[in-house]
Amino acid sequence: MASSRAAAPVVSPDFSARQQLALLAHERLCAEYGAPFLFFSDKDPLSELISALLSHRTKNADSHRAYQQLRATFPTWEAVRDAPTLDVQRALSACTWPEQKAPRIQAVLLEISRRCGDENLPPCSLDFLANRPIPEARAWLESITGVGPKTSAATLLFSTLRLPTMPVDSHHHRVAQRLGLIGPKVGEGPAHALLAALLPPDWTAQQVYDHHEALMYHGQKCCFFHSPACGRCIMLDVCPVGQAKINPPQ
Ligand code: SF4
Repeated sequence: MASSRAAAPVVSPDFSARQQLALLAHERLCAEYGAPFLFFSDKDPLSELISALLSHRTKNADSHRAYQQLRATFPTWEAVRDAPTLDVQRALSACTWPEQKAPRIQAVLLEISRRCGDENLPPCSLDFLANRPIPEARAWLESITGVGPKTSAATLLFSTLRLPTMPVDSHHHRVAQRLGLIGPKVGEGPAHALLAALLPPDWTAQQVYDHHEALMYHGQKCCFFHSPACGRCIMLDVCPVGQAKINPPQ
């Protein structure tokens, strides 16, 4: 949610106006932060799925360390699945809530093994998702307990699959709300479909990635949760929250 110190966002009821605003934000913020951005990951989709699950409400550096420690401790995903949960929890000590994430990750790996045909076999590669229509691939992932729209989009976009699906993290979500691309009460989960609908359907994975990264960087570097730096923001002229902040009602 937007900071309580910022004015409530104003959302245009005009869908095409919001589409134009999304494209304007893309153009300006991609130029500002140096798009095209290099993909930060080249993990296979199963590894990316586990990495995304670890990243929930965790700083990137901490979830990265937990992922590295998990890989160093267990040679395969099958070994993670079958290990004593306490051992997995210990390997995840660098991230938040290892006591919750360890059993969840093991349950996800077990579910994938079952869906691949045998819970005693190693969890299968998720490369087959590349051959499914994107909504079907997302539905397949999101029908696994604990996998939501952000995790499914991250798995399909950030992994070697490189499918054009857009995750929405807390920074991206905050910037989109303040600009008025989505309403002030729309949560991160429902924001995925609403924000994706504003983008051209034929965008490549690189374009979708650039859009996500540019809005995320803006949230990290300018549109802070507390005290957004509206005075130096390149979106100020089109941002209802920024305008209300610099021109408060008398
Ligand atoms: S003007 Fe910029 S920094 Fe201020 S709320 Fe809008 S997007 Fe955020």
